[in-house]
Amino acid sequence: MLGSGGLVVVDDSTCMVKFALRIMKFYKHESCGWCIPCREGTDWLEKTLTRFHTGGGIKKDIDNIQYLSENMLGRTFCPLGDAAALPTISIVKKFRKEFEDHLEGKPCPFEKQSSVQRLPVFA
Ligand code: SF4
Repeated sequence: MLGSGGLVVVDDSTCMVKFALRIMKFYKHESCGWCIPCREGTDWLEKTLTRFHTGGGIKKDIDNIQYLSENMLGRTFCPLGDAAALPTISIVKKFRKEFEDHLEGKPCPFEKQSSVQRLPVFA
């Protein structure tokens, strides 16, 4: 079995917090809701990332997003839970500074030039 993979290409004007949010919206929508870590994890991550991206985040949210994602990993029946957790863990790890830039009620510093913003929001 080879498994599966996905590749998304974004440019350097992309807000990685919003990117993480878009990914989580997708997985929340796709979750069948059977496993608690996937059902609740994707829901809480989407809520937290939405609040964070719109300027309502606090510093502890960054660690909470990481912690919640890590606790979804390997604890779900199918790989969708892992697929939701892995990109989130990577984005927080590699782009922590972008999360910090959103703190203290500041508007998204990337909003004007973000290529993600130009894409339709997955509902
Ligand atoms: S991990 Fe798979 S089986 Fe479990 S809730 Fe998510 S989609 Fe359903």
